[in-house]
Amino acid sequence: MASPGIERVLERIHAAELPDFADLTFVLRVADPAELRALFGFADAVRRESVGDGILLRGIIEFSNVCRNTCRYCGLNRRNTHLARYRLTRDQILAAVQNICEAGIKTVVLQSGEEDNLGADWLTEVIAGIGRSLDAAVTLCVGERSREEYRAWKLAGADRYLLKIETSDPGLYRELHPGMSFENRTRCLQDLAVLGYQTGSGNLVGLVGQTIESLAGDLRFFKQGRFDMVSVSPFIPHLQTPLATEPAGDLMMTLKMIALTRIVCPNAHIPASTAIGSLHGRDERPRALAAGANVIMPNFTPNPVRRLYDLYPGKTGCDLPPQQSVAAIERMAAAMGRGVDYARGDAVRLKGASGCDPSRSVASSDADLAKGQCNSMYAN
Ligand code: SF4
Repeated sequence: MASPGIERVLERIHAAELPDFADLTFVLRVADPAELRALFGFADAVRRESVGDGILLRGIIEFSNVCRNTCRYCGLNRRNTHLARYRLTRDQILAAVQNICEAGIKTVVLQSGEEDNLGADWLTEVIAGIGRSLDAAVTLCVGERSREEYRAWKLAGADRYLLKIETSDPGLYRELHPGMSFENRTRCLQDLAVLGYQTGSGNLVGLVGQTIESLAGDLRFFKQGRFDMVSVSPFIPHLQTPLATEPAGDLMMTLKMIALTRIVCPNAHIPASTAIGSLHGRDERPRALAAGANVIMPNFTPNPVRRLYDLYPGKTGCDLPPQQSVAAIERMAAAMGRGVDYARGDAVRLKGASGCDPSRSVASSDADLAKGQCNSMYAN
């Protein structure tokens, strides 16, 4: 049986405006099976109360694997000359979006590397094209861009933006991201929130040099950022990176981070990520769903290029047609006594906003930005 101690700490973390560092590191160090059960049970109850039992689906299209950056953990880094590069055409993207909508999924995620040649106008046209023909929320995940570009995409109809921080430790961030800056990353997150995007971030668990303390810092970062979506994934080493020989992130630590993320950010949409399904060659996503996650992102990137979005090796579901992936998720949900929720799954904070959908609003000038509609404490 778990000690009453852990329940008290979990209650304190859940209630805190900003959880105590020592409480978070205490829970991250928990190894006793009864205490782990208490942690996951607590997170699962918070998940049920905050976002319900439904598992939301986001159809992802990885439309380009071109990237200018050299993140030390990522197979898409520009120094990986073994990788053939691609970018889908506008028509190929719209065809994949059509497949997502035909599957009944109401969120499209457009993801790419950070591409120097990705024209802002081209992406604006793609977003507008989706909005003209289909009823789906559009989530972008295309990296660090200017405020003006973010604004143009929001005005074209983008609803959400994912920009993972990977680590909130500025020193570790610098080591892992040559030529990039932590300050610009947080500037982007602030701009996105102020512009009215539903904003997501997240981290990687098991990075070389990462400590329990830096993971606790990530949780406090998630809380301070008031993110609508938070993704926690294990690091998986890729052969064509400087971290090729490092061990993969630990599954149990990843599950503990997911559970704590749910407790710290009760209303966030949290995926059971594809990386969790790929770690050690076993699909562990049900364990993430039982630890607080409520989202799965089936892959609608067309073949033959799907394999080339090679962030890490052994990506699960790469060979499955999207319809079969969705059917497998349906079975996974049913086996857990839950179901797939085909709603748009907007940010919980937008629910019940009568008459107007703040996700559709956008600050159209710097004056508006200064006035701010920001849900993020970065603006403070
Ligand atoms: S993590 Fe993103 S920005 Fe970094 S190399 Fe990979 S695709 Fe590029």
